[in-house]
Amino acid sequence: MRDSSKAQTGVRKRLEELSETVREDVTRTCFSLILPHGPPAQHVFSRIWDIPGPQWVRMASEDQTEQPCDQAFAFGPVPSRRLGMSIGVNVVPRKVCSYNCVYCQLGRTTKLTVERRVYTQTDPVVQAVRDKLAQAPHTDYVTVVGDGEPTLASNLGEVRGRIASEWSGRTALLTNGSLLWMSEVRSAAAGFDIVLPTISAGDQATFRRLHRPHVSLSFERCVRGLKSFCSEHADKIWAEVMLVREVNDSTRSLRAIGALIKELHPAEVHLTAPIRPPSVSTIQPPMRDSVELALSEIPGSVDFTRPEASEMPGSRADPVRHLIDIAGTHPLRRAQALDVLANSGMSGREADEALDSLVRSAAVIALDRQGEVFYVRGRQGAGRNTFK
Ligand code: SF4
Repeated sequence: MRDSSKAQTGVRKRLEELSETVREDVTRTCFSLILPHGPPAQHVFSRIWDIPGPQWVRMASEDQTEQPCDQAFAFGPVPSRRLGMSIGVNVVPRKVCSYNCVYCQLGRTTKLTVERRVYTQTDPVVQAVRDKLAQAPHTDYVTVVGDGEPTLASNLGEVRGRIASEWSGRTALLTNGSLLWMSEVRSAAAGFDIVLPTISAGDQATFRRLHRPHVSLSFERCVRGLKSFCSEHADKIWAEVMLVREVNDSTRSLRAIGALIKELHPAEVHLTAPIRPPSVSTIQPPMRDSVELALSEIPGSVDFTRPEASEMPGSRADPVRHLIDIAGTHPLRRAQALDVLANSGMSGREADEALDSLVRSAAVIALDRQGEVFYVRGRQGAGRNTFK
């Protein structure tokens, strides 16, 4: 028994020496491996990681179910709290990213990289957007959002240019902003009408804890890129500050974020919160007090931490495919998922049955988030217009 305790202490000590990203990978891999070995093995490992059994069983099973390798190039339109009716565009496969944020609603990053390349050809992406726009001519924004970090796509500028040459509406780029220190990324981003970078940390420790970035990305490097971009394009920047309870919502953290925002001087600052199922299941949205504190510490900030209330539009062409594609990037509450189907012409009963059947066939997966069920795309939900 004493030997077993010693071994557990040794393993724990070794884990503490690993970087946060590697530690999470080792932990999740072990969780998945020991899952079939039942309660005795679970007990030992729970003691090593200090995490109750049921919680890591859930983390392991989430890890196994939330990593579809295929994804649609375009989805929506979806009502966005900040961008009105928006068609989403994916230019990198899930989940290729330079960060592995604890709050990410797309699950854990499977390829942590800063390598820029063509992840998918421009033509099929533009065609997918064209098809969506033909069905939804009253779209407010075409938003390159990605199933990872869109600025990793070296054809990002070309994709935007081709869309803009066929459509006179506005384009937006949702980015983590981590690659703006590269001049070619700044050039590609500059073509968008609006750029929405994440600015959720004002110091290196919070930055690492929140985003778990690629090893080559320091806080200073990312801030340098943001400053460079903002010095020329501040008028088109809407900064997003994702507030996470006990990670970046202390007075000290919020002051540091506020000081950085003051320097960058973006046109708008939006406070958001992890209201959909996050990559790390213990992550929580901020308490109301912290949102109030953020509003007072971060100059010009506006509260977008509450869930969107708008109706979800449907698609008469292929309602089920439409639902699956939205759920691939935008986890849906049950009412929203049913809305998509009902607005596509289904009766209430047909919509209920269709959604339950999608869950049974694993085309979508139901996840619990603080007592509320969200639907995300499952492995069986891949379809046409997908990355291969
Ligand atoms: S939230 Fe965005 S930046 Fe962070 S891991 Fe997810 S896709 Fe990457």
